[in-house]
Amino acid sequence: MFSMLRNWLNERIIRKSTISNDQWLEVFSHLPLLDRLTAGEKGKLRRLAILLLHKKSFEGVQGHHLTEEMKISIALQACLPILYLGIEWYRGWVSIIVYPDSFVPQSTYTDESGVVHNSKKVLGGEAWLRGPVILSWEGVASSAPLDGSNLVIHEFVHKLDMLNGVANGFPPLHAGMVSQSWADNFSRAFEDLQARIHAGESTVIDGYAATSPAEFFAVLSEVFFERPEQIDSVYPQVYQHLADFFRQDPLSGQAGTGLK
Ligand SMILES: [Zn+2]
Repeated sequence: MFSMLRNWLNERIIRKSTISNDQWLEVFSHLPLLDRLTAGEKGKLRRLAILLLHKKSFEGVQGHHLTEEMKISIALQACLPILYLGIEWYRGWVSIIVYPDSFVPQSTYTDESGVVHNSKKVLGGEAWLRGPVILSWEGVASSAPLDGSNLVIHEFVHKLDMLNGVANGFPPLHAGMVSQSWADNFSRAFEDLQARIHAGESTVIDGYAATSPAEFFAVLSEVFFERPEQIDSVYPQVYQHLADFFRQDPLSGQAGTGLK
């Protein structure tokens, strides 16, 4: 009953959207990340993005003027991980704050307090447990090339991880997924990456992933959507877990198959 009402309300929100087709096409044209999607998937992603834009509060700070196109761009990238999960996976929080460029965190924080940080390179982003997603527009804009790095996906995947508490690289898994198998394969891959970095090897996966299991999950999710072959080549079991979790298989181009 409640889900019927929710679906009806969501359909109403989508129907009332004032974003023009030209605006969508313009933003899509700047996001090569989305090129692999079918026309049907792009439509589905647009619907999710409309819901995200409606349900979340976007705020530019430090004088940053957030244009409609910027918000649409953030929403489209944020909704890619939930394309086959649904908008309810971003429940329980409201605010998306956007700084013009990398920013200085405003409080003392640690993983244990429920705050996860991302300060690699010049990018800046944070995702707070039950709190906001914070992004730097500079970081969002520089994520456009398909190089395996995507700030928006990184921070929003932390939000998925936080659905069952503090981010720890262990989001709520779907029925049929085996928790022990996820834990074993992610732990083995995480330790392998740490060992390689410690040994001074150059690694395909960004070394930031080796800082904690939460960052490992977020960084590998960036790679999963941008350069899936890179994960499959080094950690194929982790690739399969991510495909099962996101219910998408970017490598085969068969997004949405193999649902569990
Ligand atoms: Zn992070």
